[in-house]
Amino acid sequence: LALGASAAQFVRPALAQPVTVKADVRIDANEHPEGPIAQAVTAATAALSKSNRYAPGTEREDLITTIAAIDGVKPDMVVPWPGSSDPLYRLVRAYSSATRGLVVAAPVFEMAAGIATDAGYKVTPVPVRPSDLAHDVKAMLAADPNAGLYYICNPNNPVGTLTPLADIEWLAAHIKSDAILLIDEAYIDYTPAQKSTALLAKYPNVVILRTFSKVYGMAGMRMGYTLARPDLIKPLMDWGSPSPYMLPVPAIAAATASLKNYGEITKRVEAIAITRDWTIARLEALGYKSTKGLCNCFMVDWRTPAKPVQQAILAKGVAIGRNWPVWPNMSRITVGTPAEMKAFIAAVEAVKP
Ligand code: PLP
Repeated sequence: LALGASAAQFVRPALAQPVTVKADVRIDANEHPEGPIAQAVTAATAALSKSNRYAPGTEREDLITTIAAIDGVKPDMVVPWPGSSDPLYRLVRAYSSATRGLVVAAPVFEMAAGIATDAGYKVTPVPVRPSDLAHDVKAMLAADPNAGLYYICNPNNPVGTLTPLADIEWLAAHIKSDAILLIDEAYIDYTPAQKSTALLAKYPNVVILRTFSKVYGMAGMRMGYTLARPDLIKPLMDWGSPSPYMLPVPAIAAATASLKNYGEITKRVEAIAITRDWTIARLEALGYKSTKGLCNCFMVDWRTPAKPVQQAILAKGVAIGRNWPVWPNMSRITVGTPAEMKAFIAAVEAVKP
């Protein structure tokens, strides 16, 4: 795999561009190929008729207490948000600055760095560790020991690999006492044993970010949550509308129902893992190496610039993911249904990158 990154290779990511992708197969945006589980659809449908009210307290409370019980935290540590992009924006604005910068991996989901760059804040990208593609936490601290915010994505979108919990804890233990460690767990349901919830009790400056946009199939419904000390979340209210108090009522109901029927989510995780490993094996048989993705995405190395390959595969009706500037020959692949991944492999065979 083509590894290595430097600050010079870091290209300012574009923020919030509305993209309309027209393709029969959409494996480009790390969504789940299906909508919410059946129980969530039923709950959301029933909640529609209550949507004249601003997020009724009882339904919001039910979601909070359900999450708190699952994660073993006090309910006041849980704040639901309309997705995770909204609190991510506020966290970056509140806890990094031109002098107390943001430290991110390369490659990693670009939104945090994009928000900071747009705001004129200092951003320090640090290449992932070549041996296992984990966040190189020691290098991240060394690169900016004075940073205000350290961003970890676990599992890491786009590579799909994990950063060991011991490494994340090392960073929590070594950052400045007034810096924040933000752990974005958008894909953590795919690797439930890797949840970093236990760090919350030991380290006061940890914030965990989760979303219902991925395995829950709710990207278009907008629901997520933060786990953190309440006083860390309070300053976020200075950076935007009071959206945490004006949540979409059907989305709250769908989120709660998903958690209360978690066996269905586990089935999805198992199905995606089988399809992912099949796809990676087929690509390998065709001569293309991939990262060992453990969630619903991985990166494949075309050994030739990824952008034209992406266009050629799109012309066959399959939309695949983007490439990251540090790895120009690699595309991110989202795992869809078995039929979608067969269509993807057929497109690869036709294009012969
Ligand atoms: N964090 C990560 C790592 C993501 O991959 C995404 C979406 O792709 C988000 C956050 C934002 O998702 P949402 O705002 O839908 O929760």
